[in-house]
Amino acid sequence: MRLEESRQEAWLCNHCSMCTQTVNDDSGFYRVCPVYEQLRFEDSSARGHNTIAFYLLNGTLKYSEDVARCIYDCTTCYACEEICKPLGNMMAQIGGGTSLKIMLPSVMNAFGAALDPVHSVQILEAMRADCVDLGLQPLPLKETAVNAGKEHNPYGEPHSSRFDWSRVLETPRTAEVALFAGCTASYRKQEIALATARILINSGVHFALLPEEWCCGSPLLRAGNVDVARKMIEHNVSMLRQKNIRQIITPCAECYMAINRDWPNVSGNLPFGVLHMSQLLARLMGAGRVKIRKRLNAKVVYHDPCHLGRAMGIYDEPRTVLNSIPGVKLAETYPTRHAAWCCGAGGGLKESNPELAVDIGLAKVPSIKGTGASILASSCPFCEAHFADVMEKAGERIQVRDLTELVAEAMGV
Ligand code: SF4
Ligand code: SF4
Repeated sequence: MRLEESRQEAWLCNHCSMCTQTVNDDSGFYRVCPVYEQLRFEDSSARGHNTIAFYLLNGTLKYSEDVARCIYDCTTCYACEEICKPLGNMMAQIGGGTSLKIMLPSVMNAFGAALDPVHSVQILEAMRADCVDLGLQPLPLKETAVNAGKEHNPYGEPHSSRFDWSRVLETPRTAEVALFAGCTASYRKQEIALATARILINSGVHFALLPEEWCCGSPLLRAGNVDVARKMIEHNVSMLRQKNIRQIITPCAECYMAINRDWPNVSGNLPFGVLHMSQLLARLMGAGRVKIRKRLNAKVVYHDPCHLGRAMGIYDEPRTVLNSIPGVKLAETYPTRHAAWCCGAGGGLKESNPELAVDIGLAKVPSIKGTGASILASSCPFCEAHFADVMEKAGERIQVRDLTELVAEAMGV
């Protein structure tokens, strides 16, 4: 059982219920788990997943289709881990009656103590990997893994058309900097790949496009397809090494998280760094290298992609970029930043349970509408693609745009 690798972690959940509560306090959270809020069953929360892990490990529960259904209903949004921080390990060690649970947060706050969260997503991904080994993975995700094995992208599109979007550009195949567009920007949201490339060209960044780019592995790892993900990562790292790439730039939150977090786990220390396009844009704009020619004159609300925000801590740079576009008035949803509501698409949920994924996105629409913004901006092609579906279902006319598209429009490129 791959879950064995997470045994230590799985025991740490104190089943304290923080990750299933509606919270409205200094933490900035309102509701925590987007899936639990829709389904309202214990087994669809991190607490429920950790309880399942607990019983699987002590042998009183066996993997089954029902167990698989519970653990595939999760967007891997990390909200549970975010709220778990103050309680997890200490509660596990102390045991903790109700009075302790009430008392501990204030005691810990007074001492400025920060405790690690229970790594509920890691436990969940270990159970998903077991489900893959046992043939219990939902069919759409099985197909995603087969697609990636054959065509190096989860959509099953021909690898040969990966860079069709770049035909209108003249970009070199060698440089120290590589643009890693990712599968969603390459096949589903080419306007983001194109906007990114055009911004780089017009800001004087010398970069290469690499036709040998394969899926970053993130959608596969999140869904439990560890072996196929490993193949993708090993290929990418060896290809980038051979080409002496020193810096990767990606407009995708998912690729950014995978390259930062997952690739070193598979391939050890990497000889290159990675920047999300929002980070690079903030630097380029700060250095006056991005020539803006047009005011956008719009109220824009920013959606924090879970895998860029909570997973990687990038909240400021996208906002710096938006605030640097003349005429943009930046608005915030409530909750926002570390407590932001997930779009609903991550963790394979858009494939395994598309209706639930859309329902989660719909739950964010009132807070987006409440800002009065006419544009919803994000910095992840997957979030943008999903929110476009959500807005259509909601019958809303709010435009969904990527940060790069807004900057490219303001630059007139
Ligand atoms: S995952 Fe964390 S917040 Fe949720 S029940 Fe377990 S210890 Fe509490
Ligand atoms: S990662 Fe998100 S969706 Fe999954 S259990 Fe945690 S809060 Fe819920």
